[in-house]
Amino acid sequence: MIIFRKNRHGLCVLMYHHIHPVTDENESAFVVDPDVFRQQMDGLIDGKFHIVSLDEVETAYRQKRQFPPSSVLITFDDGWADNYTHAFPIIAEKKIPVTIFLSTALTGTEKDLLTWEQVRRMQASGRVRFASHGAHHKRLRDLSDDEAMEELTASRNKLKKELGVEALSFCYPYGAFDRRIRRLVFKAGYIIDFGTRKGINRCCWNARQPVKRKHVMNHQLQVMA
Ligand SMILES: [Zn+2]
Repeated sequence: MIIFRKNRHGLCVLMYHHIHPVTDENESAFVVDPDVFRQQMDGLIDGKFHIVSLDEVETAYRQKRQFPPSSVLITFDDGWADNYTHAFPIIAEKKIPVTIFLSTALTGTEKDLLTWEQVRRMQASGRVRFASHGAHHKRLRDLSDDEAMEELTASRNKLKKELGVEALSFCYPYGAFDRRIRRLVFKAGYIIDFGTRKGINRCCWNARQPVKRKHVMNHQLQVMA
């Protein structure tokens, strides 16, 4: 269950992984059923939340601008194939902007993961933006400077080559970072880093710590008035 306050300035970033039917109550906490995902999106739309795109977030960040009240950014990590088969039809129908953080060297390598063709189809819809989750989903803190830099730049280059986009946002695999790794992220050309700590992001967020996110579970959204 997610609870966040409406009409407060700041950005609430929702973090999803898998969207596919949940038949077992012991299903992983990283799976949300498509019917529940649809209810959650309806909850945001009916509740008049301001669903922002990654472009709006990057622009606001550059301009050090505060977000309108009740702003929400919807993100998915890793690049699972079910994002295409189960989430994308709902995203397209509701016309909402979302962001998928791809582990670019893994894309298209296993059947559970998105293919570049699926990625391009979603990008062409204009609803889905892609950003970096590293190349091989490695825990960057465990790597040397050179190795971490390779993960950061390889994924940036791959997004440029496959999609023609300049990736400005980076999401830490496992939420793992430290000061050294943050410095390398910005040195590699990213301007925003996303973590896994909970909380609402207020201007001028991101200066001291990565963007906070809320892990969404398989429950209806609850909004605190
Ligand atoms: Zn991940």
